[in-house]
Amino acid sequence: MAAVVALLCLAAGLLWYATARADGHDGHDGKSAARSGKGVEDGKGFDGATGSPREKEKDAQLPLKGRTVLVDPGHNPHNRDHPARISRLVDIGTGKKECDTTGTATNSGYAEAEFTLDLARRVRTALEERGATVKFTHNGNTPYGPCVDERAESGNRAGADAAISLHADGAPEGSRGFHVILPAPVHRGAADTRKIAAPSRRLGTAVRDTFREATGEPPADYLGDGEGLDTRGDLGGLNLSTVPKVFLECGNMRDAQDAERLTSARWRAKAADGVAEGITDFLTEKSSARSGGQ
Ligand SMILES: [Zn+2]
Repeated sequence: MAAVVALLCLAAGLLWYATARADGHDGHDGKSAARSGKGVEDGKGFDGATGSPREKEKDAQLPLKGRTVLVDPGHNPHNRDHPARISRLVDIGTGKKECDTTGTATNSGYAEAEFTLDLARRVRTALEERGATVKFTHNGNTPYGPCVDERAESGNRAGADAAISLHADGAPEGSRGFHVILPAPVHRGAADTRKIAAPSRRLGTAVRDTFREATGEPPADYLGDGEGLDTRGDLGGLNLSTVPKVFLECGNMRDAQDAERLTSARWRAKAADGVAEGITDFLTEKSSARSGGQ
């Protein structure tokens, strides 16, 4: 009898060991899935498997533990190779719009789509360090796109607590500065932003404040009345979102002064910290205190 029990215990122990190893190889925090480019399809749910006091203490230092953030690197470096596919029209509720666009570039040829991917990866690292689960709309390893409607759907499907689409602008040379684009309250067709307009404004204001602080970049001097905020009802990525979402235009790629910053890896590191800090403020409701009730 004792021998049978011992054998059963040994078998259970081996099974436990095999399961634990299998989990470990899959990347318990979803990082490896995201890095392999599976983006929103990556798995989650292994967090919180341990409940020791030490683990709980560690969790308390992670302000975004249990929160999901959707990061959307604007455009795709391969869009330029698929002009017909990205120019097909998709329904954005208020009308039809191109699936996606190639984005802009600096005068020396640094593409917006390269910039947004690099910044998105840095933002992901900064958010994960704060405990967040981060989803991407794409990681540069798809042939093109995704289309703007799918980019919105990614955040909706992930049940994201906040979503941000990263861009840099292509305004005339001499115009400079950054701005955040907020969703206008629209309700037409598949678009209904009435519930997300107010929280998106809080998210956008928080990101505006921390991005400016982290990078020293001035608010755009060519729109938004110098406030660094613009509101639009013609962007599919915002119109079709059901979760709080903003676009960040980090600077004007066509302006020499802004281009110097956007092409600097050191500046992008600061920018990523600014973005992550703003999202953290929004999700922990610190943004109103920081912006002095503006
Ligand atoms: Zn863009």
